[in-house]
Amino acid sequence: MHPQRTLRRAISCAGIGLHTGNKVTLSLKPAAADTGIRFRRSDLGGLEIPATVQHVGGINLATGLARDAVRVDTVEHLLAALVSLGIDNAIVELNSPEVPIMDGSAAPFIYLINEAGVKPLPAARQYLKVLRPISLARGDKRIALYPSDHFKVTYSISFDHPLLRHQSRTIRLTEESFVEEIAPARTFGFLSEVEMMRQQGLALGGSLENAVVIGDTGVLNNALRFDDEFVRHKILDVIGDMALVGHPLIGHLVAHRGGHALHAAFAVRVLEEREAWTLVEAPLQPVAAAAGLALPANNAAQTIN
Ligand SMILES: [Zn+2]
Repeated sequence: MHPQRTLRRAISCAGIGLHTGNKVTLSLKPAAADTGIRFRRSDLGGLEIPATVQHVGGINLATGLARDAVRVDTVEHLLAALVSLGIDNAIVELNSPEVPIMDGSAAPFIYLINEAGVKPLPAARQYLKVLRPISLARGDKRIALYPSDHFKVTYSISFDHPLLRHQSRTIRLTEESFVEEIAPARTFGFLSEVEMMRQQGLALGGSLENAVVIGDTGVLNNALRFDDEFVRHKILDVIGDMALVGHPLIGHLVAHRGGHALHAAFAVRVLEEREAWTLVEAPLQPVAAAAGLALPANNAAQTIN
């Protein structure tokens, strides 16, 4: 089995919310086995919202959670960092309704988690292993999960913009590949949309310090971190949104032109398709044994013959 994990100690940082522009202090704190990831609003007497599909609410340009009148927005980059570093249980405390955007990527959260350290807990982690394809389409936007022995993501994007026609990437996710190839990829947006967003009271904290802005003739920032930073950021987003399923995934996630609304709707769909997956305690556990068929492990090969 793989033990569940939490943080070794509490750690904090400060930043601003991308959409609200509010200053916010974020603290990551250890939590017991089977707590999951829970957001806590210290400015509202410690009210908590579990990071699960049951509490998704208010998806616009970022993923938000809501429970009664309490909200926490822009949770996806932090969730992607936590799930990718194998943090199953943690309390995320905020004194404002939005997770700080930091530099627009998950890299600062990776730094925080590494500084806090990781602690194993005396309980087995349960992975959600995909047995049959699950898919969801809305117009030309599509997302699906297929059986695979590993967690892999294939993402493709296409825009009607001369600088960003089409990008596609497949990556097998491990802690190392996430940290090196996905976590540093920043949020991006089109300059033509920024004015509209501001008029709607969004992106008030946005700047070239925390987002890649695509103008008519080029990127307004000095440089990209990767040639295909945009599609890498979409992979980061979908990993964070799918964390709302509540278990690490074992399967191949394939998405085309998705966004937070499609990702979150798909997380709900996955949990509804109860016949299409099983929970296992180790990523490469044989499916027959995981499904409760009680094949002795050392006889499994002969039995299948
Ligand atoms: Zn994002």
